[in-house]
Amino acid sequence: SGTLTFPSDFMLVAAMNPCPCGYLGSGDKCHCTVNEIAKYQSKISGPLLDRIDLMVEMPAVGYEDLQSTASGESSTEIKKRVVKAHEIQLQRYKKEGIFFNAQLNAAQVEKYCVLGEAEQKLLKAAFSSMDLSARAYHKILKVARTAADLDGSEEITVRHLAEVLQYRSLDRKYMI
Ligand SMILES: [Zn+2]
Repeated sequence: SGTLTFPSDFMLVAAMNPCPCGYLGSGDKCHCTVNEIAKYQSKISGPLLDRIDLMVEMPAVGYEDLQSTASGESSTEIKKRVVKAHEIQLQRYKKEGIFFNAQLNAAQVEKYCVLGEAEQKLLKAAFSSMDLSARAYHKILKVARTAADLDGSEEITVRHLAEVLQYRSLDRKYMI
């Protein structure tokens, strides 16, 4: 495993875009529906992508980004975000006797990883189209909770969930 033997153009496009328009996660530019995202992600999942050992997320580059001198987050900024996400988790779980999202048990997942209607719909669609196991469910929610925390978001949104499902579809071996 680990070698790219398939049409690399398709592979790269699939790896770069979490949704059909490619803007999911880049502000409000994405107008794809939950169904479109689920359908698209199911298309890029499967045995083909099981062969990729490493997936690099490449956010869509906008005109402003091309003009700005600093491209992307600095390591200091990333570190700040990670530290803040850990603080959020410590605060949230201080009465539970745990420290991180990864430690959530099934009951705690139900309590702290609450999904809205659109998010439930996406997860349901992903489960049937990606043929996910039942045990994958809690893990996906926990990682989505972390994605939301890194984003400083109280809610797990479609964007956070899609981000996690994208990793899941691209890297079954390591994620779950
Ligand atoms: Zn989109």
